[in-house]
Amino acid sequence: MSASPELDIAIVGGGVVGLACAVELSRTRQLAVIERRERFGLETSSHNSGVIHAGIYYPTGSLKHTLCLEGNPLLYAWADAHGVPSVRLGKLIIAVDDDDRASLAEVRRQADANGVPGMRLIEDRGELRELEPSVRCVAALYSASTGVIDQTQLMASFAREIEARGGWLALKHEVTAVDRLPEGAGFAVRMRGPDGRETAVEAQAVLNSAGLRAPDVAAMLGYPLDGGEGVPPLRQTVNKGRYYDIVDTRKARALRHLVYPVPEHAKGGLGVHVTIDVGGLVHLGPDTEWLDDGAPLDYRADDLRRADFLAAAQRYLPALETDDIAPGQVGYRPKLQRPGGPIADFLIWHDRSYVHLGGIESPGMTASLAIARRVATLL
Ligand SMILES: Cc1cc2nc3c(=O)[nH]c(=O)nc-3n(C[C@H](O)[C@H](O)[C@H](O)COP(=O)(O)OP(=O)(O)OC[C@H]3O[C@@H](n4cnc5c(N)ncnc54)[C@H](O)[C@@H]3O)c2cc1C
Repeated sequence: MSASPELDIAIVGGGVVGLACAVELSRTRQLAVIERRERFGLETSSHNSGVIHAGIYYPTGSLKHTLCLEGNPLLYAWADAHGVPSVRLGKLIIAVDDDDRASLAEVRRQADANGVPGMRLIEDRGELRELEPSVRCVAALYSASTGVIDQTQLMASFAREIEARGGWLALKHEVTAVDRLPEGAGFAVRMRGPDGRETAVEAQAVLNSAGLRAPDVAAMLGYPLDGGEGVPPLRQTVNKGRYYDIVDTRKARALRHLVYPVPEHAKGGLGVHVTIDVGGLVHLGPDTEWLDDGAPLDYRADDLRRADFLAAAQRYLPALETDDIAPGQVGYRPKLQRPGGPIADFLIWHDRSYVHLGGIESPGMTASLAIARRVATLL
């Protein structure tokens, strides 16, 4: 095992959140981002919708609410300053029929309570038809600050900035052990490189932004995953999200906004909705499926849910037919929520120079630069 120079901060995990934190912290600290995969963000950060969320649904005052609201303009500003493609497409949350009106009113109430800018209720059928001629709905809540961003280019821009500020990026290095050094001297972080050799680095502080594996890294430090003695519950569940793409170009191009039915929070998601990426491709989803503990994560597309997607989408896209869609990407949500349980907030927990980021599901990408600011105040 070889020893490396000392660091101020070792960041475990190079997804969009770990990288955003490194951008912020590398202004004043010597740090390394340690990522086990061959490139950054190959897990949750590249298997998502790429939506810059507005902060509409989350409980008022929660981290999801406040960090999303703060992160939204930060992300647009970053994208503008660093040439990352982003588009303010706007989003329509729709009441498909009169039965959905009560849920839509609830969404509106929550958006108002959260102080989300640029929200407007549209009930005029003519205006709705003009905005989205192919979408069936009786009313819609329009969100002007919702948009999309190119996640891969965003992470590349973060990586460039970290290196420009003198930070180190260690790809293909998997953290295998983290130990506290005696007398508050920091941490010894062990990692395995691509040749199988073990390296150790000492760091004054550790940021755990390992996403789906954040609990594994906490366990390396001996924290009880079910909580206790000043430690919050750290154990995560995994919820799979599949997408289907609208491959009929005429029907896809007819859509101009992100279109969401009223949400299905209890199932762990927002219901099968329409997103349009920065390249103009149109996606349906993600749906929700709770995985058993330890179930393997397979990012390959399957075609098991075509009928379900079609039925969900046809409620508001009545012209959609089975051959108009094809299986798309798959992503996995790291959740602190239990199946059927109440929505859980992000966890940003600090213990003696260790910062744990838990349950960083949506809107984690939107909130990334705001999470980074929060983490910087802790370290
Ligand atoms: C289906 C889906 C749709 C979503 N849509 C949106 C959206 O539209 N808008 C939005 O704002 N958010 C969205 N999100 C949420 C967003 O994608 C996440 O919040 C964000 O990507 C989390 O980033 P992260 O850096 O915390 O995690 P990750 O991207 O998972 O990064 C963690 C990294 O840690 C690495 N790692 C793990 N263990 C180790 C180890 N021991 N050593 C070294 N490296 C390690 C992993 O390889 C990984 O690269 C969505 C999520 C999903 C699943």
